[in-house]
Order: sequence, then C-alpha cells, then structure tokens
Amino acid sequence: SVYVDYASTTPFDREILNEVMDSADVFGNPSSIHRPGKDAKAALQKHRTHISQKINAKPKEIIITSGATEANNLAIRGTADRHERPHMITTDIEHASVRTTYQNLSEAFEVTFLKASENGLIDADDLKNSLRSNTVLVSIMLVNNETGSIQPVFEIAEILKDHQALLHVDAVQAFGHMEVDVQKLGADMLTLSGHKIYGPKGIGLLYLREGIKLSAQLTGGSHELSRRAGTENVMWVHALALAMEKAADERAQRSLKEMQLKERFLNELTAKKIPFEVNGDLNQQASHITNIYFPWSEAEFLLTALDMAGIFVSAGSACNAGTVQPSHVIQSMYEDEERALCSVRFSFSYLMEEDEVTEIVSQLDAIYKRLSK
Ligand code: PMP
Repeated sequence: SVYVDYASTTPFDREILNEVMDSADVFGNPSSIHRPGKDAKAALQKHRTHISQKINAKPKEIIITSGATEANNLAIRGTADRHERPHMITTDIEHASVRTTYQNLSEAFEVTFLKASENGLIDADDLKNSLRSNTVLVSIMLVNNETGSIQPVFEIAEILKDHQALLHVDAVQAFGHMEVDVQKLGADMLTLSGHKIYGPKGIGLLYLREGIKLSAQLTGGSHELSRRAGTENVMWVHALALAMEKAADERAQRSLKEMQLKERFLNELTAKKIPFEVNGDLNQQASHITNIYFPWSEAEFLLTALDMAGIFVSAGSACNAGTVQPSHVIQSMYEDEERALCSVRFSFSYLMEEDEVTEIVSQLDAIYKRLSK
C-alpha cells in the first residue's frame, strides 16, 4: 500500500520519539519551585529557545499550544477581543481552523473574505483595496493545504507596513518545505503544528511578535507569560523542537525529493494518457502538494476505489470529519462545483520511494480504464 497524504499528517519520527522518551525522567511541573520543577523549567526554556531559533524569533515570542487549530483561534479571537468594532480580512482558502473562526466572528464583527484566482493565489491588490481604517488583523496562509499554492505574504506584509493591521500567517504547510523566517516574512503572528513535520499530534505554536498583546483564550495560571494557561507538556515541546530542527536541517534534501516525486507523478499520469489537470499554478507551489482535477470521476468514488487498492489519499483537507464535500478552495479558484467535487490532493514525503509513485499511477489507470468501459 502507499500513503500519499502527508499534508493531512506525517508519521512520528522514531528517532525523535526515542530521544524524547529518554527525557521522561525530567517529570517535574515547570511551575514548581523545588528542584524537579526547576529542572523541568530549564528543559522547557532550552526547547523553547531551540524552537524560536528555527523561525528567527525570540524565546518569549513563542506560545506553545495544543496545535495549529488552537494557535489560529488564539491569534484571531485574542485580537478580536481587544477591539470594539474591528474589521478583519482573511481569505476564502484558509484552513477550517481560520475560516470557521472568522465565520463565527462575522456575526459580531466585520470580516472580508478574499477570493483566490485560478492560479490558486490571493491578489495582494485585493487586500490593499479591502483595508479600512479600523482593520485590525489580516490572516493569510503561507502555503495552502489543499493546492500547495504559495501565497504572496511578502507583498502583503509590505502593504501592511503603512497600516495598523497585524499580519497573522498560518505557516503549517510551509515549514520544512520552504524557508519560514518571521522577520523576512514580516509576520506579527505565525502558526505551526508538530504533526505536519514528523512530530507528535496535539502540539503546535503561535509566534507572537514582542510588544503585541492578545487576550488569552485559555485562562488559569500564568503559563506561557499568561497568554495560554495549563501545565506545559515538556516532552512534546522537546519533540516539537527536535522535529523543527530536523526539518530545518534536512529541508533542501526533503523538498528536492518531494519535487522529484511530484514531477514523476505528473509525468507518469501524462504517459498513461489519464485525463487530468493540475489545479493552480505548478510554479507557485510548495514541493510536497499537488491537487489534481480528474474530469472522469468524483473524488468521493475515486478515494474509496483507491483506498480499496491500498492507495491512501485525500480530497482537499481531511478536516471535514470523513465526508467528501466540494472543496471550498477549488470552488473559490474556479467557481466550478463539478471541478471542486472531482479534485484530489496528493501530498508527498521524502520517505516515499520512486516506485510507489508508479504504483499510485497504475492503480489510477486501472480505475480509469474500468470507468471508461
Ligand atoms: N492550518 C493548516 C494549513 C493545516 O493544514 C492544518 C492541519 N490540517 C491546521 C492548520 C490545523 O493543525 P492542527 O491539526 O495542529 O490543529
């Protein structure tokens, strides 16, 4: 069988897991003032420093959360709570943790949702034209989780230089595949998740630029400088630090391999004469993701047939609780429900072998031939 759904999640790197297990003896509560507590606090501080270095931030700018969903909620709700009648801007193609949060807030506040073009990209001019004097926050992802499209975050940061609005960047699908440097990006807030980079599920972070205030969404103790209460999961913070270090160190080799796998996949689809179109602009895409429109089958059918053939893949995001709905991302790009229903996301990993790509294409070919009869 072939797992080709690494954008939905990655396996936990065994080397990292083993290293983390070896640190289990440091079990104290980092808030305790006795020695085991102090040891845990020191370990936490060390891991936080490593994490911050990997995105060119300071240790105190890192808020550890239960994952990117919580980090995105904290960025958006934590900003909204601090303003009377704010206006905020986001896009139609964000992950559910951003989109749904804004949809919920749009009952009380004004939210502008920017549309993507057929190339999969948000237009920075649209953003410029949507800015108002009371705009307090702009949320845009760096890499789209369904198409891999790399959004014009640099351009948007440049536009926002003359404006009070803060820039929140969901970089979950970018880290490990391209450079993620909060200074170069000009981000005021940035989200990452452990389980997309061969770390554990249930841990992530929000980078928050020094000097910016947020309303805590989880209240309690003064953990994470009173921005997120709850006893810190030191072992998982360690794992996140190790996963980030390894992903950053190996980024060049990993993304090169991903790109080769993607290219081979597209070449083999063409060679087998299986009708398909790539959604979005291939030249503006992260190395590991490609999204394909198969005009001859609905994604729901294709996913099931592929699953039975041992090929594990997703239609867009995996976040809609096992249901296959027309992708809101493809819909925003093409305004074509049929295309949105017939598109499948393939996401590759450096762990894959070249002949696994051949296996995926040969199973697709078999299904296509069966359907064409
Ligand atoms: N943002 C993006 C772009 C994602 O792909 C995901 C994971 N599907 C998330 C946020 C949510 O991350 P987590 O699972 O850590 O909550």
